[in-house]
Amino acid sequence: MTTTRAWGLILALTFLPLLPAEAPAAVIDGNRIMDQRMSENLCALTFDDGPSRYTGHLLDMLAGYGIPATFFLLGGNAERNPAMVRRIIAEGHEVGNHSWSHPNLRTLAPEAQEQEISATDALLRALGASPSYLRPPYGNFDAHTLEIARNLGVGVILWSMDSHDWKHLPADYAKLRTTRGTQYDDGELRGIFLFHDTHKSTVDDLPRIIANLLAGGCRRFVTVSDYLAAALDPEPGLLMTRHPKAPFPAPGLAVQHRRMQASETALPLARCSRPWNATAARTAPPQPLRGSSGTATPLDDIDDAHAADDSRAAAEI
Ligand SMILES: [Zn+2]
Repeated sequence: MTTTRAWGLILALTFLPLLPAEAPAAVIDGNRIMDQRMSENLCALTFDDGPSRYTGHLLDMLAGYGIPATFFLLGGNAERNPAMVRRIIAEGHEVGNHSWSHPNLRTLAPEAQEQEISATDALLRALGASPSYLRPPYGNFDAHTLEIARNLGVGVILWSMDSHDWKHLPADYAKLRTTRGTQYDDGELRGIFLFHDTHKSTVDDLPRIIANLLAGGCRRFVTVSDYLAAALDPEPGLLMTRHPKAPFPAPGLAVQHRRMQASETALPLARCSRPWNATAARTAPPQPLRGSSGTATPLDDIDDAHAADDSRAAAEI
């Protein structure tokens, strides 16, 4: 065994308990996320509650930056705008399950929870996604939620930094505190950041989000799956050369028996941004292409209210 492979094995054994491989549907909360050591500071942008009428503009800008994101979609919104879901997938972003109608799952009977989560999982897979994670609305879940997720073969994940963008936009996204109150020094920022693409103000603020996070120390932007896989990445940059695995089973086929393994996480090529060249980014900002959202139908009936108070409810856990 080479030294590199030996270190890889040591790292794998060290971090395996943090990942779904050892305990499917174990909750990956903010503390677990931030306890992972990384060879370089990665940041994962996550956008909840969409797709919305603003998602197309967000995708335009993300494409301009060459940055992948993770979208935790509501089944109901995905059903109203399947073209946007397909576009999110086609452009290399990750799609996760955020329930069908954004209820507080803890207040629902097990059967109702099952319907919220399973119907969304089935729809997203039918649209071409391979959701690996469920993010319960408000961060609220119970034992039934975990069992349902386990049966679907998906992990449950929260976030490490909440932007509170539904309330107001922060003065500096690099100074957001983690779920346990940590604020990172300049140059050390990393983590999984929570935003909502149901808010125009958030989408319009993407350039400042990226600039702040880069100034804070983010070295590269990745999807949630790639962020978590990075804990098993023994060599910086290996994620960019990893080949995709076989696709997940077709909807309805053997999904309930699939046990998540870190090694089977699908990693499309180049799904993380290149190491950032801050100078080039400042001199050549991306040009958002407003109005070029493909064939997606504008969503005029999305209610932002359901996105409210994610952090308040999460704090109850
Ligand atoms: Zn939400």
